[in-house]
Amino acid sequence: MIDVTALGELLIDFTPAGLSAAHHPLFEQNPGGAPANVLACLARLGQKTAFIGKVGADQFGFSLKTVLEQAGINTKGLIQTEACHTTLAFVHLNKQGDRSFSFYRNPGADLLLETSEIPFDLIDDCRIFHFGSVSMTADPARAATLAAVRHAKEGGRLISYDPNLRLMLWPSPNQAREVIHSAMPWVDILKISDEELLFLTGEQDLARGATSLLDQYALQLVLITLGAKGAYARTQNAEARQPAYDVRTIDTTGAGDAFTGSFLYRLLQSGLSPTALSEDDLQLFLAFANAAGSLATTRAGAIPAMPTLKEIEDCLLQAPRLT
Ligand code: ADP
Repeated sequence: MIDVTALGELLIDFTPAGLSAAHHPLFEQNPGGAPANVLACLARLGQKTAFIGKVGADQFGFSLKTVLEQAGINTKGLIQTEACHTTLAFVHLNKQGDRSFSFYRNPGADLLLETSEIPFDLIDDCRIFHFGSVSMTADPARAATLAAVRHAKEGGRLISYDPNLRLMLWPSPNQAREVIHSAMPWVDILKISDEELLFLTGEQDLARGATSLLDQYALQLVLITLGAKGAYARTQNAEARQPAYDVRTIDTTGAGDAFTGSFLYRLLQSGLSPTALSEDDLQLFLAFANAAGSLATTRAGAIPAMPTLKEIEDCLLQAPRLT
């Protein structure tokens, strides 16, 4: 039995790494893709995980496969295609330190995942199926993502969804909103940020926004991350809010994925369904997930930054909370 199977984008993030001797910009090759980051977090916590997605049959694709294997993630569902290159993203920093991205994805291999290529046994065998919206920006990956979600739901899997809004990958904000909403009817656990709450519901108030999503769809649990301000959770019966931890933050990449992965870990360990979580459960799980998210900001990158159980437990006991 697999604990969590995730489907989605897997790509290379080239992050700025200073200047060469000739004063030209250097970029470091990092693995990227939120669904795989969530699995890396769960694998670090000892869970069995499997990834479904597509990369090129090029050096970047081989390198990504190796990264997942080294993280302990099952890569039977990682397809390599000769038809297209692995998707690349370059991160640029301006003089103020603000980040912008250039994507090389017209298309990139991740978008070419076909429904017929999905190993459905990896979904039938899992306890939780996790996905996002980056794999829904265009077909055939959009149709494949929705087919996998429907299959998982019909087979009785618990469905976890982190839309991970990346507006520049969509033709328009309206299409992003429409497609992100279109997957909600199959979802049990929704993880969004406060900005995504505003984008999807028009609400800034956490309780009102979460309630409107719970009422509109058959969601069991809404999780809202708030960066350094921590996180909020709501079910139909309970709500909770917890602060983040005061750590030496150097790079917030992957913090949201560490949060999601570690929350799913606590849920799996509890054996409870999300609707059965009490306010105390939600507070404990949120504190745990905030500790994991905070720790992920203390190291560069996402997959290498995922904390161990011991590190999370130490953070919960020792690190000051941010108020
Ligand atoms: P996302 O990347 O999904 O938008 P966030 O940036 O909100 O996610 O981060 C997820 C979690 O990581 C937060 O809920 C918090 O627990 C932790 N976190 C994020 N930024 C910081 C920070 N600057 N200091 C401490 N913890 C942080």
